[in-house]
Amino acid sequence: MKKRICILYTGGTIGMVPTPKGYAPRPGYLGPVLAAMPELTGPEAPDWELVEMDPLLDSSNIAVDEWNAVGRAIFERYNDYDGFVVLHGTDTMAYTAGALSFMLENLQKPVVLTGSQIPLCRLRSDGRENLITSLIIAAQGKAAEVCLYFGGKLLRGCRAVKRSADGLRAFSSPNYPPLAIAGVNIRYDEAALCRPEPEGPPALVPFDNVPIGVLKVFPGIQFDLFEPIMTSRLRGIVLETFGAGNIPDTRGALPPLIRKAGQNGAVLTVCSQCFEGGVLLGKYAASAALTAAGAVSGCDMTTEAAVAKLYYLFSKGLTAAEVKGLMCRSLRGELTAEDT
Ligand code: ASP
Repeated sequence: MKKRICILYTGGTIGMVPTPKGYAPRPGYLGPVLAAMPELTGPEAPDWELVEMDPLLDSSNIAVDEWNAVGRAIFERYNDYDGFVVLHGTDTMAYTAGALSFMLENLQKPVVLTGSQIPLCRLRSDGRENLITSLIIAAQGKAAEVCLYFGGKLLRGCRAVKRSADGLRAFSSPNYPPLAIAGVNIRYDEAALCRPEPEGPPALVPFDNVPIGVLKVFPGIQFDLFEPIMTSRLRGIVLETFGAGNIPDTRGALPPLIRKAGQNGAVLTVCSQCFEGGVLLGKYAASAALTAAGAVSGCDMTTEAAVAKLYYLFSKGLTAAEVKGLMCRSLRGELTAEDT
């Protein structure tokens, strides 16, 4: 029997059309385009249905409310389909992939995010291949998790980053091997597919608009400028540090700032600005202030995943201490724990 796949269209280039202001999604446009693609209606294709989100958005506008709407749309249809394909703009696709990875607990069916750099209305669109292969991956059911397919690679959703603004291989997961490579055949990496086991029936954890922040450290950063953001409202901050978790500490400027965040009870998660590798607090003295201030290592987690994880853990109603304890533990295969 043919597998049934739900295609959720959130917006993004794949279904955009030119407008006087530039490309934008148009409600009702994508359905007829997909219905007219012979590859999608032929005997090899799974059965699929399209659900269009309202409003359709450039993914720059997708945030917590839209993540919740997509998560709810999947959860409500969970038993009706064998898998899901989420069509999404590329700009924030990695953030949404991270958010859905956490929000959909105990997932046992594939949720594949994809999109394109060139709209389907253009001759050279990469959307056709991305969509068709994503549908097949969703129907095969081997990657029963939130993943992202783009340009020939299937990536773990909570490990993905957008690395190119114009390349057709726009995504990678620098600290984790692809779950599958789509060449002549779709070759899955069985070892890479391993992840923490589901602990119960599927569940949805809608996110709250938790006040969190991301601060990227740079040479010459004037920390005092950022001190006003460290109010008691801020519940978590992702600090993008140099290399293995280092910060400029020589002028003593950062520690008070960091200490203030700690005193306010904000969970300080340390990520690296490097594309590959991760944080190892204590390797250099330049990370000592972070450890002293009670910061937690994000290990090799991406900023995208760290942001999504903070939203998730706080939305579950956990205390700052509990959130801190879980930030450095793998919940969905989003990080490799530090070698100590
Ligand atoms: N700005 C578009 C979006 O993220 C880019 C894309 O889809 O490639 O919605």
